[in-house]
This record gives sequence, C-alpha cells and structure tokens, in this order.
Amino acid sequence: MHLKTLTLRGFKSFASATTLQFEPGVTCVVGPNGSGKSNVVDALSWVMGEQGVKSLRGGKMEDVIFAGTSGRAPLGRAEVSLTIDNTDGALPIEYTEVTISRTLFRSGGSEYAINGTPARLLDIQDLLSDSGLGREMHVIVGQGQLDTVLRATPEDRRGFIEEAAGVLKHRKRKEKAVRKLEAMQANLTRLNDLTSEIR
Ligand code: ATP
Repeated sequence: MHLKTLTLRGFKSFASATTLQFEPGVTCVVGPNGSGKSNVVDALSWVMGEQGVKSLRGGKMEDVIFAGTSGRAPLGRAEVSLTIDNTDGALPIEYTEVTISRTLFRSGGSEYAINGTPARLLDIQDLLSDSGLGREMHVIVGQGQLDTVLRATPEDRRGFIEEAAGVLKHRKRKEKAVRKLEAMQANLTRLNDLTSEIR
C-alpha cells in the first residue's frame, strides 16, 4: 500500500486544484517558509478524517477553506482527495486503488466519499483503521509531536502502539458493546421492578 496522489482544491493556501503525485519510497516536499508544506500534511490528515481543529492548526473547521488573498476572493468549499494504491490488499476493500474524498462547505455541510460513493466518517475510519492510518493519526508526526510521544504516560504510549497495531478499533468496539450491555441490564432491572409491582 502506498499513497499515490493527493489533490487539494480550495484547501488552505491551495485555491486552485493542485495534485501531488507520490512514488513508492521517500517523498520530500521542499519550499520557502509559509509556502504551504505543512498545509499539504494537514490535507492528508484532514482527508483521512481528522476532526481536531487544533491538529489542523486552525481555530474552527472552516479555517481549512481558502480564505482569500489580496488578488483572489475566498472560496465556498474545500475539497481534498487521496488515492491509495491497494494492490497488496492492505485496505479491507475489493479495489486495487482507493480514493477517499472529503468536502467541507462554508455554509456548513460536509461530505465524505470512497471511490466516488458517498460515505460516512465512520466508514473512512473503519477502512483505514487496520492499515495503521487510524483515527489518531500516529502515522503523521507533526512539528513538536515527537516531544509529546517521548513525554507520554505509559497508558498513552500503549494507546499509540495499539492504534498502530490495529487493536484500538476492537477495544473501542468492545467498550461500546459493554456500555450497551450495561444500559440493557439497567432496563432489565427496571422491567423486573415493574413486573413485580404489577404482580
Ligand atoms: P514553514 O516552513 O514556515 O513551516 P510551510 O511551508 O509549512 O511553512 P504552511 O504553514 O503550510 O507553510 O502555510 C502557511 C500559509 O498558508 C500562510 O501563508 C497562510 O496564510 C496560508 N493559509 C493557511 N490557511 C489558509 C486559508 N484558509 N486560506 C488561505 N491561506 C491560508
């Protein structure tokens, strides 16, 4: 599995459609300060479902939409598409090439798609979670983040490893199931109380 292309349109400083093509191996993005290198990394985590505005270096989600410059009006939407080569089947989907897209409208709506078919955020997270490209984005190490990992508590560090190993998804599902069971147990107890009151 490797990232093939990343297309940004209206995302942060990338007003016009811009496609970056990645070959297998190491890719370096070089450019002067403020030219948009980190915006490319932000686009990668955003299209993979990042919800934290702070990790995207903004104050609100709308900040990812091109805000305009002296020569160009602001845009009404941001779109990012990421195409992943899946010939090795690392992603649990029957396509050798998978394109994930995310669109955010200034008016408020937001859309995701997998190979052009509308999808939910959960579908994107499920698709990526076993590949190591999970929700917590530990595959993307931002400036200063190394420090966070080195200073993490043993519990947090375990979380990083579980996410990378694909275990976290199952633990979260188990926690959700346990919460449902507890709620169901409370309902049953209430039902038993009512039944004995009626008798
Ligand atoms: P450095 O090397 O200093 O880390 P960089 O190449 O990583 O810089 P970025 O942080 O990616 O640069 O880009 C910053 C630029 O993106 C700034 O000029 C900022 O004004 C612009 N920018 C960020 N968000 C938007 C937006 N919503 N609309 C227009 N421009 C934006």
